[in-house]
Amino acid sequence: MDGQYLPMSEAKLSVLDWGFLHSDATYDTVHVWNGRFFRLDLHLDRFFRGMEKLRMKLPYNRTEIEKILSTCVALSGHKSAYVEMICTRGGSPTFSRDPRQSENRFIAFAVPFGSVANKEQLERGLHVAISNTVRIPPRSIDPTIKNYHWLDLVKGLFDAYDYGAETALIVDINDNIAEGPGFNVFTVKDGCLKTPAYGVLAGITRQTVFDLCDELSLSVSAGDIDRNELKGADEVFITSTAGGIMPVSKIDETVIGDGKVAALTRQLTDLYWEKHADPAWSTAVNYA
Ligand code: PLP
Repeated sequence: MDGQYLPMSEAKLSVLDWGFLHSDATYDTVHVWNGRFFRLDLHLDRFFRGMEKLRMKLPYNRTEIEKILSTCVALSGHKSAYVEMICTRGGSPTFSRDPRQSENRFIAFAVPFGSVANKEQLERGLHVAISNTVRIPPRSIDPTIKNYHWLDLVKGLFDAYDYGAETALIVDINDNIAEGPGFNVFTVKDGCLKTPAYGVLAGITRQTVFDLCDELSLSVSAGDIDRNELKGADEVFITSTAGGIMPVSKIDETVIGDGKVAALTRQLTDLYWEKHADPAWSTAVNYA
């Protein structure tokens, strides 16, 4: 940050930054697995698109940001990492309330790879609760801009914990399933996959599932999914950079399928991890 590489403990942000004060920021998170970035181009595309929509500008171009991210990983020494790039509105040197006067700020960091689901949950499937909390609608915040408007998702998480579940899905304004804290969701029914279309982040892992389905000649679509359709699915899984494709075995009190990680979820998960070594899907970190 501010043109320097620092240990995480020394990376500090001004409390006057609008990223902190108003959640006025966009970000992206890419992961590194066995020394290789996974689908870095797609993450950079999304990051630059978000900045453009928010009318933010940085003094770095795409190649420079790519180099900064690689250097963060190399300095951290991590072979598997969670790498975040952030652009905040920053602040105005004259304390102007006009966002056009702000000096936008770039921050990037690399920390050890983390997952939504732990090892046990990956083996048996997650227990998810559907919260009545409504995801902030697209007319308020464009969900394709990756953002920190998470109060709805965090409320959903507390609702899920109160219920005795491990994580949450929250709904859109029409009470259809939207997404969860840091992940998209898919159903499998009679061999066809489906994921919510409205009011969700276009996740890179979600896109990856579309690409893997294409390769496997599986039918996949985006559209409304209500609570009954979700609970009546043969298989359900969630997708995130933080963990990849992760099985769900129970939603509220409903056991999904036979309650075990099922065939298509397994096949897609295996192929997803295989792609991490494929140069068409991944880029080597420069540790030199
Ligand atoms: N939805 C939300 C709200 C998220 O924050 C994230 C990731 O952080 C996702 C979905 C999954 O997106 P991706 O697959 O790009 O990690």
